[in-house]
Amino acid sequence: MTVRLQDTLTGETRPLEPLEDDHVRIYSCGPTVYGPVHIGNFRSFLFVDVLVRYLRYRGYRVTWVMNVTDVDDKIIRGAAAAGIGVEELADTWLARFVADADRLRMTRPDVLPRATRHIPEMVALIQTLLDQGHAYRTDDGSIFFRIASWPSYGRLARLDPEQMRVGERVEADEYAKDDVRDFALWKGHRDGEPSWDMAIGPGRPGWHIECSAMSMKHLGESFDIHTGGVDLIFPHHEDEIAQSEAATGKPFVRTWLHCAHLQMSGTKMAKSTGNIARVGEVLDSGVDPRALRYALIAVHYRAALNYAPDSLTAAAAAVDRLDALLASLATYREDRPDDPSLPDALANARAAFDAAMDDDLNVSAALAAVFDLVRDLNRRIDARALSTADAGRAIDWLRTTDTVLGVLPDAADDLEPALRSLLDDRVAARAARDWAASDRLRDELATHGIAVEDTRDGQRWRRLVEAGRD
Ligand SMILES: [Zn+2]
Repeated sequence: MTVRLQDTLTGETRPLEPLEDDHVRIYSCGPTVYGPVHIGNFRSFLFVDVLVRYLRYRGYRVTWVMNVTDVDDKIIRGAAAAGIGVEELADTWLARFVADADRLRMTRPDVLPRATRHIPEMVALIQTLLDQGHAYRTDDGSIFFRIASWPSYGRLARLDPEQMRVGERVEADEYAKDDVRDFALWKGHRDGEPSWDMAIGPGRPGWHIECSAMSMKHLGESFDIHTGGVDLIFPHHEDEIAQSEAATGKPFVRTWLHCAHLQMSGTKMAKSTGNIARVGEVLDSGVDPRALRYALIAVHYRAALNYAPDSLTAAAAAVDRLDALLASLATYREDRPDDPSLPDALANARAAFDAAMDDDLNVSAALAAVFDLVRDLNRRIDARALSTADAGRAIDWLRTTDTVLGVLPDAADDLEPALRSLLDDRVAARAARDWAASDRLRDELATHGIAVEDTRDGQRWRRLVEAGRD
């Protein structure tokens, strides 16, 4: 079996065939660092995280590049409003983005290139487009891509080429250009804006050019997978294809993957409607990061995800079931022969998980396979059918699977020493048959987010998974 992915450009679901043997090169449009990143953006970043994790689990070498837009109109306005420099504002919000990503256990991209550190690469690309006649200058020193010079423009978004551009970042009347559809590669110098004095004239890059320049620099002129939210298909990705392929004469991207919107109360989550939840705010409200992660990854990336307080409750319950099973297996001791039917059960569950993920990352079907196995293992534990070694095999299955999902507690979850000693005190209290002390210690541990259970394998603990406070 091979990994199959649905390409937005052709609509086809095709086997992944990396351009370079077993090396998958992925570029993702990343954050614009001018404010807190909302969870809708993180849905599209975590979908790539799961993709990267799954490909590595399948044995591929993966190079993942995610750009950081650190100069654009919003950043310039934000910095002016805050009375600080553009770079300072971008540094602050980039650090916050990385911190939020870490809390959500997002794999660190191999390269997080910043636009302002790649101005010469962008200028070289723009110069090539000028030389070839795909770009032109305007009186104010700006440079535009000429859409009329690129007949296949609009294929990705399935647009009528005569259709007006919508959602463009530059208003038609703000810069003089030949055709309202043309997009800015370079914005001529304006007082009060960051500007680079380059051979093509002083100014700053347009937004689209940074992704072509940085992806090609770090991944080559042609690479395997480009991702983003569906809102980036047009014009951003359409523009990336036009300027990249016009400059190199080579196919830019093998497979385009786009993540559907996250909706809140049935409407698209976006800053413009004020209908947002920021990751930092959600986690600070007491939501376990693992529960938020689960809620964001558990629905197929091409399906709209409706985010509501119940989705966090359901996600926290799912993570707690995994934690509880892991805790049971970790303390399970039974001196008996191995369960003869366990190897098949584990192998079948593995095959079902892989088949679902191979099918364009059908994560909901993959999770169904995981929870079928969870039920099966809980039955075997209750029946004391497993040997101690079997319990270890089941833990290995869960840990291997979690290299993709990223929701289990850390293997070395070191309990704080004070809590560890409360657990030890409780074991001593029970040995002394002091049930009142045992109950009091259980309650105290609960206030610290630790659940305790008494089993025939002894006292067992796990961290409570919070879905948040009301
Ligand atoms: Zn981009």
